[in-house]
Amino acid sequence: MLKGDHSVDVVIVGGGFSGVSTAVELCEKGCSVALVEANRISWGASGRNGGQLIGGLGHDPAAFRRTIGDAGVNEIYAMGAECVDIVSERIRKYNIECDLKWGYVEVALRPRHLRDYEEWAKDDKKLVLLDKSALQAYVNSDIYLGGYYKPDWGHLHPLNLCIGEAKVAEEMGAKIFEQSPVERITYANSPVIHTSSGSITAGHAIICGNAYLGSLVKHLDDRILPATSCIIATEQLTDEQIAASLPGDVAVCDTRTALDYYRLSADKRLLFGGLSNYSGLEPRNVEDIMRQKMNHVFPALEQVRLDYIWSGQMGISFRRMPQMGRLKGNVFYVGGYSGHGVAPTHVLGRTLAEAVTGNTKRFDYLASINHWKWPGGKLLRRPGMALGMMFYKLADMV
Ligand SMILES: Cc1cc2nc3c(=O)[nH]c(=O)nc-3n(C[C@H](O)[C@H](O)[C@H](O)COP(=O)(O)OP(=O)(O)OC[C@H]3O[C@@H](n4cnc5c(N)ncnc54)[C@H](O)[C@@H]3O)c2cc1C
Repeated sequence: MLKGDHSVDVVIVGGGFSGVSTAVELCEKGCSVALVEANRISWGASGRNGGQLIGGLGHDPAAFRRTIGDAGVNEIYAMGAECVDIVSERIRKYNIECDLKWGYVEVALRPRHLRDYEEWAKDDKKLVLLDKSALQAYVNSDIYLGGYYKPDWGHLHPLNLCIGEAKVAEEMGAKIFEQSPVERITYANSPVIHTSSGSITAGHAIICGNAYLGSLVKHLDDRILPATSCIIATEQLTDEQIAASLPGDVAVCDTRTALDYYRLSADKRLLFGGLSNYSGLEPRNVEDIMRQKMNHVFPALEQVRLDYIWSGQMGISFRRMPQMGRLKGNVFYVGGYSGHGVAPTHVLGRTLAEAVTGNTKRFDYLASINHWKWPGGKLLRRPGMALGMMFYKLADMV
């Protein structure tokens, strides 16, 4: 817990992947770093997510061509590839135990999904198209029309990765203060963050509270909408049950906006996620809804016991592109990964560390993107988003 007044080069607010990966990058560059976390390291989305290690940054970088030009769009595509490399290199370099496994399959529920995959395969030589029967070797379900396999994406234990990275940062000298909610920020060239029992003055402050930040920073409160996603974990599966569900031991997503995502844990449980809820609330009957979803995909698992159920909040950006920029003075921020942040947080952590140490090229591209406020103000944006989500769900059915 933060007590007393401290001073460092960079103070980071939030101990998820955004904050922790930025801390590692800054420590590697020789900066003195303090990280302040309201709860425990990785308490938020980073410790609760589906563990799917997927490349790409944002939904459609090309949509920002008018603002950032061809060079900016190309840079964002390159960052989308780099982000997975950063994670795998960090795990290797620091020997972080987090059950990394390679292999990702995306599955099609509609013919138009298959047509999209064919287009993507033209640009991505590693993408292997799978017809319905080839898919069965990875995902043993009748509901899909086909899919694609990517050997260079995969899955891991996100909580262990984040805690492992925090230890790496700590070993390099970062000071980590848990159970220390930041209550106030003084915006200045040497910003100060304040908790109930202490403060930290720094050359730069970086706000990484994402969907859990509440109303601490109005600019972000207006632009990052917390949405709930839920995960169930089965009992440990037998070899027969695995053969009848996920024989490929790959990470899997379907192609809908309100998607299902799943994988096996290292101890052979099926972790099945979905049920994106833009009302920001967890539905009361999560267990029933999630079990129905899982049974629909894998009828062979109808009788398995569910051992764990949890949910988390992810930060959604209106234009589904992560948000990065400068508030006032030397206070920077990142967040709003829109449901896809395990890998992207890592390249944005690197980008922030570059910016703080004087190389703002990549930061400037991202910071120049205009992120829209969620319409409807505080009162109406949740019902508005719930309606928007209904629209996406209807579109997913076509
Ligand atoms: C259920 C679920 C499943 C997901 N599955 C995947 C997936 O499979 N693959 C994928 O790529 N992405 C997935 N995501 C998204 C991904 O988890 C996030 O994009 C990513 O973890 C965001 O990391 P972060 O550090 O920005 O935010 P978080 O991990 O949410 O961290 C923010 C931290 O800031 C702290 N904080 C907030 N306010 C303050 C304050 N005032 N003072 C101090 N600390 C504060 C919070 O306590 C929290 O620990 C999923 C998200 C959820 C919720």
